Amino acid sequence: MTPAHLQIAIDGPAASGKTTVAHGLARNLHILYLDTGAMYRTLAFLALQTRTEADNEIALVHLWDAAGVKISLDAEAPLGFRIVAAGREIDEAILQSNQVTAVVSTIAAHPRVRDAMVRSQREIALQGPVVMAGRDIGTVVLPSAQVKIFLTASVEARVARRRAQLQEAGVDVSVHQLSQEIEERDRLDRERAASPLVPAPDAHVIDSSAMTADEVIAEIERVVALARA
Ligand code: C5P
Repeated sequence: MTPAHLQIAIDGPAASGKTTVAHGLARNLHILYLDTGAMYRTLAFLALQTRTEADNEIALVHLWDAAGVKISLDAEAPLGFRIVAAGREIDEAILQSNQVTAVVSTIAAHPRVRDAMVRSQREIALQGPVVMAGRDIGTVVLPSAQVKIFLTASVEARVARRRAQLQEAGVDVSVHQLSQEIEERDRLDRERAASPLVPAPDAHVIDSSAMTADEVIAEIERVVALARA
């Protein structure tokens, strides 16, 4: 069934530019935006704080329920949305910390964790026209989305972008370390049994290796215009 509001699903591997592109697209189209990776990262942060093991599925689901996580789609917020968990706002520094990045894909592989996230993501999508970024948006979360994009880029391009982003934030990580982290996360996300990372059959695949974020946004806007015509 076609959704009541415009839904744009943007999926793809780690550091493929989904967040930048999805946020920019949402701003241009004046619609809501959520990066679902931030939800899995929030749970990873809570797990690290409470010393909950990344392989303890039941404890992780309880932790998520107990933390009273509030997600509000707020275009004025620095991330483009706000997440408050365990009484504090979760900011970019928390979400992108190395410790969180190191455990998030193990946590995201648990089917019950995913069920809890997907339920809440579908509720959020009812609020209005939305761009949602992640790994399983077009395949599982919003399978009837009018526009589905699978954004890829070569490992080299993804490493270079992530490195530049980190350097801007004053963090210097070697190319070798970053490629290892990105390739390992891709492997875990592609090989997991529950909702593995895979393009939806009806997704438009965009290889952004040689494109700027603005060029990718312009291409998606053309796909959106066609879907709306
Ligand atoms: O997109 P980002 O790199 O922030 O996502 C962090 C991790 O969260 C991914 O590597 C993946 O394991 C998980 N994730 C997921 N499904 C989503 C979004 C993120 O499994 N929809």
